[in-house]
Amino acid sequence: MIHSGSPKLSIVIPLYRSEESIPELVERLFSSLSAKISFEIIFVDDGSPDQSWDIVSNLSESTPEIRGIRLSRNFGQHNAISAGIDAATGQFVAVMDADLQDAPEDLPPMFDSLVNSNAFAVIARRAKRVDSKAKKMGSKLFWHLYKLLTGVNVDSNIGNFGIYSREIIDSVLLMKEQHRAFGLFVAWTGFPIIYFDVERSPRAYGKSSYSLRKLLNLGASGIISYSDRLLKINALVGIVLAFLALIAGIGEIIAWFFFSAVTPGWTSLIVVMLFSTGLILTGLGILGIYVSQVFEESKKRPIYLVRDEINKP
Ligand code: UDP
Ligand code: MG
Repeated sequence: MIHSGSPKLSIVIPLYRSEESIPELVERLFSSLSAKISFEIIFVDDGSPDQSWDIVSNLSESTPEIRGIRLSRNFGQHNAISAGIDAATGQFVAVMDADLQDAPEDLPPMFDSLVNSNAFAVIARRAKRVDSKAKKMGSKLFWHLYKLLTGVNVDSNIGNFGIYSREIIDSVLLMKEQHRAFGLFVAWTGFPIIYFDVERSPRAYGKSSYSLRKLLNLGASGIISYSDRLLKINALVGIVLAFLALIAGIGEIIAWFFFSAVTPGWTSLIVVMLFSTGLILTGLGILGIYVSQVFEESKKRPIYLVRDEINKP
């Protein structure tokens, strides 16, 4: 929704355990953008256990450009982004992290390159990732696996940091599913996108709020909610195995018929049995995961709940 007098750019920033970086973030946003473009900053406190909300409240008192949305609990980064873009009034919407890994100074050149192109979004591509070796390797491996399992090719060097046109934002807002991945939603819309090379800084304060468990969960739900290829692979393995069993069976019959030779194969029988039972159980497990996703989605619960809001226009 764009009102007359609404800002050109809404900057959506989810907050979770990032209290230390907020003042510097605000200062750098103002100094890089004030002279160039009208903007609003929308901080979404994603049930952060630290003082994030108080800091945002204080800053917003004297500064109408700073808006705050406080969620009722921790819903996760992508749900928080949804809350922010839902509230955004700008003609363009920027999404960035709160921890200063995404540099506010990149926004003006990114904006220029977007408006000078025919694209609907400009997404930052980190030329050189500064994350730990393990995180870089893990991410590369995950996106390879992701492509294999879903057929969707995602560049491991891009994240959420970018500026998105109203068309893309409104399209993403139409997607109501529980398992949310902002970048995948943007890619799904199919609108043309350009990339802007940036250097991603190391975290200025604190450490990543993503534990390995949280990352693995995010990865698994990203694969399962985006594609049914895993089910198809499963079915394919089943068909291939059944076919092999058929051939083996025919072979046995021929051997028995012509040579009256029966293979004394107790061990091989057990191996095959255990193997196929394992596969059946795996298949059932995967099916179960999909069914539980259908169950979750069918509840149609809201994707976030707002507890408090400041400087609502
Ligand atoms: N974040 C959030 N909810 C969460 C976890 C993270 O809103 O449950 C926000 C966080 O405040 C930051 C962004 O998501 O703005 C990225 O988080 P972080 O820097 O911890 O992740 P990383 O950079 O390691 O991927
Ligand atoms: Mg970070």
